[in-house]
Amino acid sequence: MRLVRNIRYISLAKIWNLCRLQAFYRKAKHGNFSTEAPLPSFASYEPTNICNLSCEMCPSGKGQLKRPRGTADMELYRKFILENRKTLTNIILHFQGEPLMCQQLDEMISLARENCIHTMFSTNGQLLAQNIDLIRNARPDHIIVSLDGLTDETYTKYRVGGKVQNVFNGLEKLSQLPTNERPYIELQFLVFSHNEHEIPELKNLKKKYRIDKITLKSAQIYENSQVEFLPENKNFSRYEVSGNGSFRLKKRIKNQCKRLVFGTVVCFDGRVVPCCFDKDANHELGNIASQSLYEIRNSKKYIDFVNKVFSNRNEISICNNCSE
Ligand code: SF4
Ligand code: SF4
Repeated sequence: MRLVRNIRYISLAKIWNLCRLQAFYRKAKHGNFSTEAPLPSFASYEPTNICNLSCEMCPSGKGQLKRPRGTADMELYRKFILENRKTLTNIILHFQGEPLMCQQLDEMISLARENCIHTMFSTNGQLLAQNIDLIRNARPDHIIVSLDGLTDETYTKYRVGGKVQNVFNGLEKLSQLPTNERPYIELQFLVFSHNEHEIPELKNLKKKYRIDKITLKSAQIYENSQVEFLPENKNFSRYEVSGNGSFRLKKRIKNQCKRLVFGTVVCFDGRVVPCCFDKDANHELGNIASQSLYEIRNSKKYIDFVNKVFSNRNEISICNNCSE
């Protein structure tokens, strides 16, 4: 059913572009940048970096972002969609911030859909119920709802300022939509020490709210003091913790990155960054307000960055704490 629904987003031009991306990626692994960088097949576009929560460990929620706060300019977004519609398969309408805080989110979804681009966004769910008409009318294809606790006590340990009942109300409203108007619903549960015991309960929620998929996700931490949030079940942690309380990624880091080649991230003000780990745009590659994405992808800045990731990723701090 989902495949049938999404088939309209595929075209020969997009398949051809994917083949070119794959070829570029293979060559990059050998340090060969002689061919032009194709356009990405997916993009995250930030509707707003303003949020209604203050989640632990989120630089945005904790007020630690150094870049300005704001909301996407529709003309800039339109330019981006029209310039990239032939190659873009999927647009993810979130980066930092809560997408439902953006007044133009419905227009952003509709414009992408009109241009045959699959749309998804991730929400903390606090404003879902009151925005059910927006969802019904704009028809996003996929919504990720974050729910990391089933009682206010566990939920607010991470989602500071939120109320778990608001998320349940939103899920209830979504479940009541007729099947042909319902987006694909994914519930994302960040697994922490304070909520891992609730995992078995999730299957009941899946049934109750007609959730399509439940994703158990490991949390990203930044400081030794946050180690206490890591779950006991090591399968749900991406880190190894040593005796002195320091941590490091379990996965061996390879000098390669598909995300950087196949995708891109655009901040609300048009700045393009390598990936969603660059929350503060410290590695700005260009700006779609004055350049096309093609120019940015073929600029010295982008090629140098890719080269660095594919040759010595350890030198880039965001890449050191990334499970990609
Ligand atoms: S909802 Fe998302 S953007 Fe907002 S504070 Fe929490 S993690 Fe950060
Ligand atoms: S942090 Fe580095 S390795 Fe991870 S996705 Fe971004 S560019 Fe790739």
